[in-house]
Amino acid sequence: MYDTIVVGSGIAGATAARILAEEGNQKVLVIERRAHIGGNCYDRPDAYGILIHEYGPHIFHTGDETVRAFLSRFTEWYDFGHEVVAKVGDKLIPVPFNLNTLHMVYDKEKADYLEQKLIDEYGEGSRVPIMKLRENPDADVREIAEYVYQNVFLYYTMKQWGQKPEEISPEVTGRVPVVISRDNRYFKDKYQSVPLHGFTPMFEKMLDHPNIEVRTNTECRDVLAFADGGILFEGLPYEGNVIYTGALDELFDCRYGRLPYRSLDFKFEHLDEDSFQGHSVVNYTVSEDYTRITEFKFLTGQRDTDGTTIVREYPFAYTGAEGEIPYYAILNEENEALYQKYRSLTTGYPGFYLLGRLAEYKYYNIDAMAAKAMELAAGLMREEA
Ligand code: FAD
Ligand code: UDP
Repeated sequence: MYDTIVVGSGIAGATAARILAEEGNQKVLVIERRAHIGGNCYDRPDAYGILIHEYGPHIFHTGDETVRAFLSRFTEWYDFGHEVVAKVGDKLIPVPFNLNTLHMVYDKEKADYLEQKLIDEYGEGSRVPIMKLRENPDADVREIAEYVYQNVFLYYTMKQWGQKPEEISPEVTGRVPVVISRDNRYFKDKYQSVPLHGFTPMFEKMLDHPNIEVRTNTECRDVLAFADGGILFEGLPYEGNVIYTGALDELFDCRYGRLPYRSLDFKFEHLDEDSFQGHSVVNYTVSEDYTRITEFKFLTGQRDTDGTTIVREYPFAYTGAEGEIPYYAILNEENEALYQKYRSLTTGYPGFYLLGRLAEYKYYNIDAMAAKAMELAAGLMREEA
């Protein structure tokens, strides 16, 4: 029998499984409904041999030494400073909006003046969420804020969320603050990388342990059931732990209605040219119905390719229809209350743990997710001891 059953083989499930199997010497079963492991980090070569990220561009970025060290056991890294530009009119401007961007959109005299003003107001190197910048009483600062709001956030956010920046959680737009420096990198973290040979081989190594069994193409509900007072595994009472990383509403047949999510339609295209856009990611912040285009060879550093493969991301409201994937929890009080209602259904099952972007209905990055999984696994091992 298994000590722990992990539902989902994304970064949350794979991290927890590895630690419990290795450090806790537990027998772990990982159940995955997809035909492959890795969750949304999954990547694979396309028909042209170009490594693509099937569920959108993923960059591992972190300042967390423990997480970095843990994952480094399973991969070498291709380290780079991830940069993003936004297409505004005929210009490509750095995002997050920073002092370099300021100098691209205003003439030198005005940009110098505004730069000094931002530095005096917030300090060099600071990172100011757009919704905070807009509240500044100074008319010059508000002029910059208005430019950034209109040209970087408004239209992109409408596409991504179907709502204006002021209608969504400030946590979301706060991920891409205005940066009072000349750093063009999208993230501020010390490490910004992709696994040198791809995410999938990294996951394969993580899950390659004698105490771990992985079953892909296996739907949780087909093997696990909640019975009065306990959990059944393949029809029999199960006494071990379950770590569930899927969507919580699905587990209970959406009995209170669906938890709202945003989804994405990824449209891949292979082009018989050396380079399409010369950048890994271009955000379309004032035009088009897709949010961004990723050109994979510039993200992964792959050199040995003929042609190039790109992907466009088209957001839409998740309905739960066959084939749709819930990508982003929509963070607000109403949805959190619904989430908590579902969560309360799990309290009668002491060995049942919710972990992950879906199961916790949160907006986690890879590193935060791995850290959370490490914390949960450590806690479970302490309980065991
Ligand atoms: P997932 O990766 O979603 O894994 C959950 C797994 O559980 C899936 O494989 C799923 O098939 C399986 N599952 C679910 N339900 C069931 C069930 N009932 N039965 C069996 N299996 C089930 N983070 C970054 O740090 N950097 C980035 O650049 C970045 N880019 C992103 C881009 C996009 C478009 C998106 C959507 C997310 C991005 N993220 C990024 C976030 C990152 O994807 C998540 O932090 C991470 O994937 C969360 O891991 P997880 O294990 O919680 O979930
Ligand atoms: N955002 C925007 N314009 C941009 C980049 C980001 O409006 O050019 C907003 C948008 O609301 C987005 C949020 O900031 O959903 C967070 O961006 P991030 O790049 O972190 O999103 P992710 O990569 O997780 O989809």
